[in-house]
Amino acid sequence: MHHFEKENNPIWHPFTQMKIAAAPIHIESAKGSLLYTKDGRAIIDAVSSWWVNIHGHAHPHIAEAIAKQAHKLEQVIFAGFTHQPAIDLANKLMEILPPHFSKVFFSDNGSTCVEVAIKMALQYWDNQDITHKTNIIAFENAYHGDTFGAMSVGGKSTFNKAFQKHLFKVHHIPLPTAENIEAVKAEFKKLVQDDSVAAFIFEPLVQGAAGMLMYEAAHLDALLAIAKEHNVIAIADEVMTGFGRTGKHFAINYLHHQPDIICLSKGITGGFMPLGVTVCAAFIYDAFYSDDKAKTFFHGHSYTANPLACAAANASMELLQRIECTENISRITSSHAHFAKKISVHPSVRNVRQTGTIIAMDIITPAETSYFNSISTEIYSFFLSHDILLRPLGNVIYILPMYCMSDEELEKVYGAIEAFFEFKLLTNPFLFYLRI
Ligand SMILES: *Cc1c(COP(=O)(O)O)cnc(C)c1O
Repeated sequence: MHHFEKENNPIWHPFTQMKIAAAPIHIESAKGSLLYTKDGRAIIDAVSSWWVNIHGHAHPHIAEAIAKQAHKLEQVIFAGFTHQPAIDLANKLMEILPPHFSKVFFSDNGSTCVEVAIKMALQYWDNQDITHKTNIIAFENAYHGDTFGAMSVGGKSTFNKAFQKHLFKVHHIPLPTAENIEAVKAEFKKLVQDDSVAAFIFEPLVQGAAGMLMYEAAHLDALLAIAKEHNVIAIADEVMTGFGRTGKHFAINYLHHQPDIICLSKGITGGFMPLGVTVCAAFIYDAFYSDDKAKTFFHGHSYTANPLACAAANASMELLQRIECTENISRITSSHAHFAKKISVHPSVRNVRQTGTIIAMDIITPAETSYFNSISTEIYSFFLSHDILLRPLGNVIYILPMYCMSDEELEKVYGAIEAFFEFKLLTNPFLFYLRI
């Protein structure tokens, strides 16, 4: 294993313990599902490069849209000014989002679009001089980003331990299951009873970073019904689930009760440019719309609605609405379903689950499981040695492919997962015994 050269490398990588991490793989170019390394390997990107890519790397339609825009207008201040790519994108979003959504607020990544949503919800009440609605409800194990507000609504974890006492107070409730749904509903009702709750934030249907934990739309609907009844603003964080991942454009399309605010990022530009949007219902906007300047929504980032990012998003949205894209999403969904059936009987595998194009499973490990479990390093290295990029979350192996991934590439990934479990079985006497 090659390690970083302490002296010569000026880069500090994200989520990386620099002392023990292997040297990063140098990628020179990419096309479709493949990443081409400087030393001539072709690696299948089975996690869409941290969940951002949807149509494939270096897609010419998006690349051209960005190039064209770069020659025309690269950036302009968005307070007091506007531009066509942002107008087009807002209109396109209105077309594909449920009809009650009415205003698009731009930022530049997943964490910031969540910050915007939280601030919008809190100021919504403050602008009306309703001072008792200040609490927030979120799910345990949630992940909403790495900035302070996003960390506060996120679940407690080793990641945010050092900052815990600087985070604001949030009520975390368990993710609903068939077993606990009545208890979770009761807890939710109790929390909202005194009218102190301003907002409820959630990742609909799939909690990504928690380990691709999936839960029923009906259970979320039951909680949303209570939220509506008690004037709690519902915020759907679809930063990961948005733009087709779950089989529909948005995970909220599976719900009866709709959120008041939706956060979108990652796939919005097809994985080409950083961009975030927070879209809200008219009634939220109305609480800011006033002759009183103090009711302004005081938030904005330097690169708000960057024209290149908006141009990429418009081009990506065009691809998303093509019939080939819909067909690819169904193809991957049924391909995953077939593999899920096959792999679920394997003795080293537990809890095989799927929502649309996302498939996940837990590998049974004798030790206590956590993100820091050495199993994740082992899994990661095993797949990389097979030229596949799968970045497990602790003992959870998942595939989150871009929609252009071919059947052949999917089969290669499935085959490698099967090979990994066979390999585990041979090297784990406990599991081997279970099998015979
Ligand atoms: C990744 C993610 C975020 C944070 O997005 P960044 O662009 O990494 O800041 C927020 N919410 C969810 C659900 C995510 O998966």
